[in-house]
Amino acid sequence: PYDVLVVGGGPSGASAAIYAARKGIRTGIVAERFGGQILDTLSIENFISVKATEGPKLAASLEEHVKDYDIDIMNLQRAAGIKKKDLFEVELENGAVLKSKSVIVSTGARWRNVGVPGEQEFKNKGVAYCPHCDGPLFEGKDVAVIGGGNSGIEAAIDLAGIVKHVTVLEFMPELKADDVLQKRLYSLPNVTVLKNVQTKEITGIDKVNGISYVDRATGEEGHIELQGVFVQIGLVPNTEWLGDTVERERGEIVVDKRGATNVPGLFAAGDCTNSPYKQIIISMGSGATAALGAFDYLIRN
Ligand code: FAD
Repeated sequence: PYDVLVVGGGPSGASAAIYAARKGIRTGIVAERFGGQILDTLSIENFISVKATEGPKLAASLEEHVKDYDIDIMNLQRAAGIKKKDLFEVELENGAVLKSKSVIVSTGARWRNVGVPGEQEFKNKGVAYCPHCDGPLFEGKDVAVIGGGNSGIEAAIDLAGIVKHVTVLEFMPELKADDVLQKRLYSLPNVTVLKNVQTKEITGIDKVNGISYVDRATGEEGHIELQGVFVQIGLVPNTEWLGDTVERERGEIVVDKRGATNVPGLFAAGDCTNSPYKQIIISMGSGATAALGAFDYLIRN
């Protein structure tokens, strides 16, 4: 069996695997897609000490760094379930069962899509999901934010300080964000809020040039010319495969300061946890924390 089995091969999983292997313990990493979300990221400008890079390039260096250690890499393998007996047993979709004394779950998350025409086509060409990451790319331009919950309104406030104008589109008749956020939003001069509207299409030619919507009360159609659309209707953690083995909040695995879950020996890191901010540098830090937490657990058991 492994001492530490990492499930998930994004920044947090890679970091966890390297930290574990550096303790000289038997380490494996299983990933559906090694690299994770950064494979879908064009430019990365906030990975500190690297001024600018591209997602696939960073994913390749992650893999190279992991391969520098004695770590079993099982790429293109999806975990389907986990059980705790004497050891943890992680079952893969192909039927294989991997045994380990401790497990670090780092299966990340995915942005919920609006599912309108143009969204897939213009991803990274004006359609964005992360204001901390991509906001500065739209400096001086007009953008829309789809979603009037806390994350949507936080994004709109954040973007209003960078871009020329922000239009918020909310499907329901009222915004769902906290009052303080709404007050702050309405105090800004360069924000328009459209409520009770359904986004119909993100338009463009080789990149986004506008958004079309329908007023749900009147049926009237509208179109706004703009250069960017931030989709903020939720980040869904990839934790469905865990069944009811571990405590979660809104799907996010609940971890303590050491990355430990409520199940002894089961740790978690990165975007699949209840960490409040989801960023590469943060997920790498939490991967390191979880690996050191797992090592502490192993030397005590
Ligand atoms: P992920 O990167 O999501 O990796 C999860 C891993 O788990 C993957 O290998 C996946 O294949 C695997 N996996 C999932 N389910 C299973 C399963 N059942 N079995 C086995 N493996 C599984 N952050 C920044 O700091 N700067 C940026 O500029 C930036 N830009 C972004 C742009 C986009 C378009 C997106 C989507 C995200 C961006 N982010 C950015 C956020 C950043 O990518 C994430 O915070 C980071 O990737 C989280 O790392 P993670 O390892 O926790 O999860």
